Amino acid sequence: MFVQSKKSFASVNYTICNPKTCNPGEGRCAAVPACTHKVIKQIDGVFEQPMIFQDMCMGCWDCIEACPLDAVFAKHVT
Ligand code: SF4
Ligand code: SF4
Repeated sequence: MFVQSKKSFASVNYTICNPKTCNPGEGRCAAVPACTHKVIKQIDGVFEQPMIFQDMCMGCWDCIEACPLDAVFAKHVT
């Protein structure tokens, strides 16, 4: 019998996410250091929105806790 796997990973709502608002002084995304698995990166530098490499996400949701603007959410796919 084939059992379909369910996957959950963190995702960024880019209409809410704004490092200029959440960290106006340094432009650093708080979710980046919160992710001990190093799945979130500001690849374009500070003051730019972060990317989540969803294939590597462990679903621990530490990044969701860390974002002061509630821009990170748990996405569930079946
Ligand atoms: S995900 Fe949250 S903490 Fe990170 S840059 Fe966007 S708003 Fe700021
Ligand atoms: S849910 Fe956990 S592993 Fe996934 S991006 Fe957020 S902090 Fe990293």
